[in-house]
Amino acid sequence: MTQRPETTAITSGRDGSGSLAPGLSTSTVWQTGGLDDTARRATGARLSGLYSRYSNPTVTQFEAAVAEMEGAESALAFASGMGAIASVVLALCGNGSHIVAQNNVYGATLSFLQGPCRRFGIETTFVDGRVPGSFAAAVQPGRTVLVIAETPSNPRLALTDLSGLGTIKGPFTLVDSTMATPLGQRPLDFGVDLVLHSATKGIGGHNDALLGVVAGERDLIDAVWGYSVMHGAVASPHDALNGLRGIRTLAVRTERQHATALHLARGLEAHPRVTSVSHPFLESHPQHSLARAQMRMGGTVIAVEIDGGTDACRRAIDSLRLVRPATSFGGPETLVCHPATSTHAGLSPDELAAMDVTEGLLRISVGLEHPDDLLADIASALDTLG
Ligand SMILES: *Cc1c(COP(=O)(O)O)cnc(C)c1O
Repeated sequence: MTQRPETTAITSGRDGSGSLAPGLSTSTVWQTGGLDDTARRATGARLSGLYSRYSNPTVTQFEAAVAEMEGAESALAFASGMGAIASVVLALCGNGSHIVAQNNVYGATLSFLQGPCRRFGIETTFVDGRVPGSFAAAVQPGRTVLVIAETPSNPRLALTDLSGLGTIKGPFTLVDSTMATPLGQRPLDFGVDLVLHSATKGIGGHNDALLGVVAGERDLIDAVWGYSVMHGAVASPHDALNGLRGIRTLAVRTERQHATALHLARGLEAHPRVTSVSHPFLESHPQHSLARAQMRMGGTVIAVEIDGGTDACRRAIDSLRLVRPATSFGGPETLVCHPATSTHAGLSPDELAAMDVTEGLLRISVGLEHPDDLLADIASALDTLG
């Protein structure tokens, strides 16, 4: 019987103990039954009952829930989204390896590929993920180990065609699906090898867990695990507990935030100071039909461009009463950020242009306040610009 993802969010990640809330396993180490028992526990993949860097029961429950939500055989949690990205790249690549990545990826992912990876002899070719076939065209047979996409992308909400990625043969394909959450899309269903989340965002959902996770076939996840236990960016059981709690309410939160995002996007499109609004489920989005084909929901973030550049953005942000200036997304509070001077500060004008990040761009992470209160707050802040 097919079960819908809203139900899987409730049924997944159970340990069979009958406890409805997950137990918090704080121990870093487990006593064994002696030499032979220790030897038994210390062999094989995903060692358990030994030491918490190898596995922890609370973290394992969170991983099981994510694997089921994503339709994956296995998942592996990390101390952060960047812990997941860095560990996957360093687990699979080495000196001489080649990566193909989308140019408009998360800022720290870009810095990691351009800095440490290059220093270790891992070279990256950046492509425009919106252009069909751009990833496949940049693959160097025998040399490209990994293809990295992020869809929807931050902050412009550009999309990458998941079925196109899924047909790439040779390198492993990885999708950073943070902006969509497991409720919004399932990249593995399109033939992608690995799906990754910063669970710090929508999955955790309450701004109280720094957490990352990657899911895919068991053998591949086991290989990443083998490296990750040396890298050491393992998830804290406290954060995994909050991540699992977040999954239980993910559907209601995401559906509400998604509906509010569309309500704000439609309302703001009509405001005279607004030059453009982006959201994948807005009919005016250039990849709207792709969004409808590969996503169940378009995400909880909107990008709003206003005329008047940085100065107008500063004045608008200062006039907001409900919407708070902060740079994350996926939590209960609605947040606004000005990418050109914060998340994307330090990028060259060419890089900013390639990502479509202008001085008048505001990224709004939609929370759980009443949609009309939010629209009134943002519209009146824009009205003060005259
Ligand atoms: C936040 C984020 C990351 C990094 O996650 P952390 O948990 O902050 O390390 C990676 N990718 C995307 C799309 C993000 O939004």
